[in-house]
Amino acid sequence: MPNPNLIIPKSELEQSGSSASLSSGVIALLNQQKQSWDLCRRNYDDLNNIQIKSFDFSKIEIKIQFNPGRIKSTSAKVDKDSIKNRKCFLCLDNLPVEQRGIPFNKDFLILCNPFPIFKEHFTIVNKMHVPQTIVGNFLTFLQLAKELGDTLTLFYNGPKCGASAPDHMHFQAGSKGVMPIESEYDSSKALSGKIIYEKGNTVLFAVVDNLRKMFFLEGSEEKEIESVFYKLIGKMQELLGIDDEPMLNIIGMYENNKWKIIIFPRAKHRPDYFFLNDSGKIMVSPAAVDMSGLIIVPRHEDFDKISKEKIIKIFDQVCLGENKFYGLATI
Ligand SMILES: [Zn+2]
Repeated sequence: MPNPNLIIPKSELEQSGSSASLSSGVIALLNQQKQSWDLCRRNYDDLNNIQIKSFDFSKIEIKIQFNPGRIKSTSAKVDKDSIKNRKCFLCLDNLPVEQRGIPFNKDFLILCNPFPIFKEHFTIVNKMHVPQTIVGNFLTFLQLAKELGDTLTLFYNGPKCGASAPDHMHFQAGSKGVMPIESEYDSSKALSGKIIYEKGNTVLFAVVDNLRKMFFLEGSEEKEIESVFYKLIGKMQELLGIDDEPMLNIIGMYENNKWKIIIFPRAKHRPDYFFLNDSGKIMVSPAAVDMSGLIIVPRHEDFDKISKEKIIKIFDQVCLGENKFYGLATI
């Protein structure tokens, strides 16, 4: 049985901040959690001492964050047997007793992430133990991006490329403006965006920068964006000859009454470096945040070792190859 106090009442939430909008309410939730949950407070405090370094790839930036708290997530075994044999850490019954949450629509619950990358970091979990899939959940993604958009950026990791709980549907949200791609969106679009679909103000761009191949999808019509997104998914399945969800990571921003969605089609989850032994190994498992220019390394030796050349190789290996990507660029 879930903790009967899991859902935080409005009256209690307001002791830690305003709940006038969902985006202020979740910040109040985080304040409450830092006050009442030692592990959570400690892990957020640790973010103040985190080391970051930056590489310049001409018009785009890649930041490396040394974050030892993410070791479990980065090294997570996500094969079927390992998943089957572990207790699901996102199921409501298994949440720590201190964890509190705010409901979102009838299916989801917004929780603070106790192992943060961002100063504000949330996991939005389905209340049921249902598999991670974007099909059927993309509208919720858009609605969350909109409602949280003035302070947070939303992201989704596919079950085979970054989600550490591929068996339990969830999104994440982190402090707005921290991932380099958020501020590069407009310039990358102007520099290398090629329009591949346009209707009203809904536009889909194929964008190739110095490191990545991705899609930018923007507009203010929810239903139109949803329909273009599903067309793109269908095209990916057709091109790759698969029925399952194609490997992808998604970023969702909302500003000036408009969604800006970034879709990273992926070739694989982990680069070759992850599987090397000893001194050759770099423990990195690129997911939405890493693809967006904030690469998380939980081991200091990797933080020291990573170089421009290695970053190029990592992106080259995990992004969808050029031929396949351009095959998608005609939906
Ligand atoms: Zn679960």
